[in-house]
Amino acid sequence: MNRKELQNWIEENLDWYEMSHDYSEPGYSLDEGKDQIFFADWNQVKDQEIMDQIEENFMIEWSDEWYQCTDCGKSIRTSPDCYQWQPYYHLLNECEPVCFDCISDNAGLQETLIKDYVIKGNEIDPEKDSVNFRLLQIDNFELEKHCFKVLNDEHYESGFHAGQNDDPVKIFKNMNQSFLESNHFIFKQSEHSQFYMKFDLYFRPIEAR
Ligand SMILES: [Zn+2]
Repeated sequence: MNRKELQNWIEENLDWYEMSHDYSEPGYSLDEGKDQIFFADWNQVKDQEIMDQIEENFMIEWSDEWYQCTDCGKSIRTSPDCYQWQPYYHLLNECEPVCFDCISDNAGLQETLIKDYVIKGNEIDPEKDSVNFRLLQIDNFELEKHCFKVLNDEHYESGFHAGQNDDPVKIFKNMNQSFLESNHFIFKQSEHSQFYMKFDLYFRPIEAR
């Protein structure tokens, strides 16, 4: 079967499939000569000969491990493939996956994403021992371009090693109360490994916007 016939076969014989023209996921790329990725539950293909042909002609992935970016249509993983894996997308409006490539290129999307990550200092209850902690994990997201400044001189660390016990609740508890109340905050990851992570705290005065 040629590619068109194979695609028709997939369409007619599988309950459900998705298609994408490329990967946005770091570390993945189309094999030479292939220009389509098909996502499906491949256990449904009982004919090994056809399965071989599909694999020869297309990139294939499991549909329950991937999303397609709603902005560019490229593919992003939704489940880990190694210890270091982190999502390369953000769910906008809690249901629209957008890849970090698209977010990095789009100031409007970045402001939307900031809203999802920001911690408002004036809403932190100093009596409570919890903070709505969310960690921004996009390396190339320049918060400085959105009027944020980094607060800490050295990276905060959290992990298994001695001394790696920085805690967002304590960080806010030790902060000057008027500074806390007059700023918005975002925690951003600076380094991530299997055993620890390093992060920074960014702040932006509430009047600045
Ligand atoms: Zn995208």
